Amino acid sequence: MPLKLTFFGAAGGVTGSRHLLESDQARVLMDCGMFQGHRKESIERNKSLPFRPSELDAVMLSHAHIDHSGALPLLAKAGAEASIHCTPATQELCAVMIMDSARLQKNDAEFFNKIHRNSGQRIEPLYTEEDAEKVLANFKPHDYAAEFSPAKGVSARFLNAGHVLGSAMVQVDAQTSRGPRRILFSGDLGRRKSLLMHAPEPPAGVDALLIESTYGGRFHEDVSDAEGKLAAAIRRCAAEKGKILIPSFALERTQEIVFIIEKLRRENAVPKIPVYIDSPMAVNITEVFNRHLGGFCFDDEFKAYAAKEGDPFGFESLKYVRGSEESKKLNDMDGPMVIVSASGMCEGGRILHHLRNNIDKETTAILIVGYQAEGTLGRALADGVKTVKIFGLEHEVWARVETMHFFSSHADQGDILDFIGRLSPRPRSIFLVHGDGRERRALAEKLVSQGIGGVECPEFGQTFELEAP
Ligand SMILES: [Zn+2]
Repeated sequence: MPLKLTFFGAAGGVTGSRHLLESDQARVLMDCGMFQGHRKESIERNKSLPFRPSELDAVMLSHAHIDHSGALPLLAKAGAEASIHCTPATQELCAVMIMDSARLQKNDAEFFNKIHRNSGQRIEPLYTEEDAEKVLANFKPHDYAAEFSPAKGVSARFLNAGHVLGSAMVQVDAQTSRGPRRILFSGDLGRRKSLLMHAPEPPAGVDALLIESTYGGRFHEDVSDAEGKLAAAIRRCAAEKGKILIPSFALERTQEIVFIIEKLRRENAVPKIPVYIDSPMAVNITEVFNRHLGGFCFDDEFKAYAAKEGDPFGFESLKYVRGSEESKKLNDMDGPMVIVSASGMCEGGRILHHLRNNIDKETTAILIVGYQAEGTLGRALADGVKTVKIFGLEHEVWARVETMHFFSSHADQGDILDFIGRLSPRPRSIFLVHGDGRERRALAEKLVSQGIGGVECPEFGQTFELEAP
């Protein structure tokens, strides 16, 4: 059998990253992410896996984000025992994030079923905390650049992707009857210059590249503008005695926000209003960051700051909120205050409660600091809708909604072109994944206009043969 690659997610979209590599000796799945989006549709898409979990030899996990790791418990639920390979930080982060995903599904289902008990509408969690615990027991950590063999006839390495703590590009060398083939899966790729992460370096000799295209058609604002915009929002909030709500991914974005506010306060650039990190997951993740502060994936400048100034994720009047009672108390407290809470696309978690309590107030500011997939509440807010449904109930939007693009931890078109340009020799095939149709098309057109061949935009379920030269 020739080496084959099948795309089972993040093909024409940005969630549910799953790519299956098959040789005559091995079946290796790259990522096993959850589809995110509108509740009803994503439940349907996540319910069943489009391949046989029991036939997998190994899973190579690029990083801990749920759209890359969130469907792993479905493997355990189906009785699969394949090892899940990743970096040590990704393993620690998944222990927090996958368990949180299981709990969140349980809590959301209970709350939804409670408020809809009269209408008879019901939802069920996709998997349980037991399924999550089972799959976490199959994780195998590997340091960056360390070579290992995840399956017969396959050797592999993780290389820094510069996206979030622990994030890796997956390099797989597979034996075929016509010689070895090197496949590089970028996972989510970071930027050449970011707040915390070290930039990704492409390896040599890649035959087939799978590269993300989330921002394939766009250029980000300069990350150095983040401080000024955030400072302006905090000063206005202090003057109006309002609340700033920041729906934030608990991984990376929250630490970036805290790090910037920490710097602004140190420089006396903003009033010292209370800041609450209202997400038990973000609290646990920040602890993982603190354990890995000297790690390879961090930017040198950030490492130097942390070494000189001490804890980069803590200051007086910053409170990490774990308990739900403490979280509820924030509803009754007057501003000014900043509340950073998950989930980042407003599809679940405590941010929904802060939104439903404050979204109809003119003194509330909602800062959109992360990617918002189509169909999510976060995207609707970013698009400026005037009414939203939260837990099935309608709310008018009187809050100010401000979108900040510079916080992205994804490569933009310039970063992606630079990365591909530095691959030597140029790969025979370049598969564009993890991008909405428009972004992916724009990147494909740009690559073709630069004379780069072998560019493919795979659709869901499409298989490609990777012939050795
Ligand atoms: Zn990611």
